[in-house]
Amino acid sequence: MAAGDVPRSGTPFGPGAMLQLIRAGGGTTRADLASTTGLARSTITQRLEQLQAHGLVREVGGSESTGGRPPMLLAFNEGAGIILAADLGATHARLAVTDLGGTVLAEETGEMPIARGPEPVLDWADDRFQSLLRGIGRDDDEVRGIGIGVPGPVEHATGRPRNPPIMPGWDGYPIPERFSDRYDVPVLVDNDVNIMALGEHWTRWSRIDHLLFVKVATGIGCGVVMGGEIQRGADGAAGDIGHIRIPAIDEDSEPVLCSCGNVGCLEALAGGGAMAARLRAEGLDADGARSVVELTRAGEPAAVRLVRESGRMIGEVLAASVNLFNPSVIVVGGDIAYAREQLLAGIREVVYQRSLPLATRHLRIVPSELADRAGVIGAAVMMIEHVLSPAAVDAAIAGKDRSELEGPAPVSPAMDAEPASP
Ligand SMILES: [Zn+2]
Repeated sequence: MAAGDVPRSGTPFGPGAMLQLIRAGGGTTRADLASTTGLARSTITQRLEQLQAHGLVREVGGSESTGGRPPMLLAFNEGAGIILAADLGATHARLAVTDLGGTVLAEETGEMPIARGPEPVLDWADDRFQSLLRGIGRDDDEVRGIGIGVPGPVEHATGRPRNPPIMPGWDGYPIPERFSDRYDVPVLVDNDVNIMALGEHWTRWSRIDHLLFVKVATGIGCGVVMGGEIQRGADGAAGDIGHIRIPAIDEDSEPVLCSCGNVGCLEALAGGGAMAARLRAEGLDADGARSVVELTRAGEPAAVRLVRESGRMIGEVLAASVNLFNPSVIVVGGDIAYAREQLLAGIREVVYQRSLPLATRHLRIVPSELADRAGVIGAAVMMIEHVLSPAAVDAAIAGKDRSELEGPAPVSPAMDAEPASP
């Protein structure tokens, strides 16, 4: 964070904002904090004591000395808590326990179709989280938050899926409440494309403010990072590029019906499901997105041609998105991205040809680096940024200070109504 960047939430240069500076600095001294914030040394010391009392900041020894006693370097204590993260996919799931720096401490994958419904899937996830925690000797009360991704649209404020097409039984289901009897922590839910975008942005592109993450699997979606933050739109539907209509490449072809009820959607023409169907029509054995990739890697000409053509169709929509958003990077992930050369070649061909030169001057189009792990890392990142936001840190510190002054906080509103005992 540059000097003068006042965080948008929390007290200006309160303890939460101070923690942000320390996290961004990667080795910061009290003098650095004083010169960045303009605060008095005594105020800085007070803020640091509050952060240290919460275990969020530690001293990591002296920096290189210019003579005299070396100043202590301050670092974020990534071990101050743990996060539970789940990427619940259409057919399989990946779960992880991470520290507050996003480092995976324990991880597990399993076959768990989302279509079994919320109770069986979330019971399973709850059970596996317990097993992961016990496996590394950690307790439930060390958990600071839970981040979950699901393969469908989500109302982010409530964590409830909204009309998810491939998630029968999940519409409106209160996912966060399912975990509230065991953990007294925030639970955030988002769709899988947004968490993949977050994971990729955090891991590789954190210095880039404007990024699009395109997931090309059975369906097609896009996570939009602008100004360094994921953009969900008014109703959580931003980036749903799979249902943008694209002009038919072959004028004589029949209009293709999409699962959404419209015709000619990008997903219905260029998604992994659509490609598998077209390969089957040509007599090949392709039951889904992953077999399209296998056939492409084996050099099957029909599959190679189809993936390249899909790349061009996706490129049509991305070319328009590039003109709209002017991203610096487009990251391509999802199952079909394993056929990366053919898919990327098709996308690049159209985007660089069709977008405005100014918008593509610095544009890079790259494959996902995290691949299968982008979602679970992103689910953890979503939660880490939430619990370490300046406002959340200030509130946690204010709550603790108040409870030290007033004694134990009331357990429930009902107890609060009782007269205080002398
Ligand atoms: Zn559609």
